[in-house]
Amino acid sequence: MSLRFGWRRFMSLLAEPPSQCAICRSWPSRPICDACVRRFASPVPRCQGCALPLPAGVARCGACVAEPPPLDACLVACAYAWPWTDCIAQFKFRQQAGWAGPFATLMRSAPWIESAVEQCDLILPMPLFRGRLRERGFNQAHELARRLGAARKTDPGLLLRVRNTAPQSGLSRAERLLNLHGAFALEPLRASQVRQRRIVVVDDVMTSGASLFAVGSLLKRSGAAHVTGIALARTEL
Ligand SMILES: [Zn+2]
Ligand SMILES: [Zn+2]
Repeated sequence: MSLRFGWRRFMSLLAEPPSQCAICRSWPSRPICDACVRRFASPVPRCQGCALPLPAGVARCGACVAEPPPLDACLVACAYAWPWTDCIAQFKFRQQAGWAGPFATLMRSAPWIESAVEQCDLILPMPLFRGRLRERGFNQAHELARRLGAARKTDPGLLLRVRNTAPQSGLSRAERLLNLHGAFALEPLRASQVRQRRIVVVDDVMTSGASLFAVGSLLKRSGAAHVTGIALARTEL
């Protein structure tokens, strides 16, 4: 190996992302350092039905007690707040797919997510509408899903987004559900594959939960035995 080759290799290693924490810039570090994970992604007690933060010892929020959501469990890794809002924007809109690995690690380290992924039969990424996929070039939920569990469990073609929907912001919980009516479907030739199965649905950001609930309800109607919704981050207002 020539000295020149070695030098080039050394320079390329320096350029690789794991050399510096993307949040606090500490060096050398993993892409998100342990201190930043402790500081910005400490686990908090959350509602079993919709993952809203709750006081310790309370299992479900009022909305989920009054109207139980179709998900058997709902898990998120962190709040959709700084610094994750910036990191997720880089991942999603600036197409920096390199974030998928560190984000999947963050998700697996959150309570219950690893065991949910290990116990499930199928992992379904939340699908994007075709036009959105073309313009973005990749589905961020699929990038997370396939790094989260065994790649053989991840099936990006079974759950379909069949209708584009108006933006959800500004709508009430009931209006959001109505807005999503008929937005998702199962691939007709393989719909029976969800029957009696434990399924994990993966999304990047959970806002009201309407999309995850719509998919959860579709999967339950189609015979799924157990559905867990997992998101990287959740808005907490
Ligand atoms: Zn850091
Ligand atoms: Zn809830």
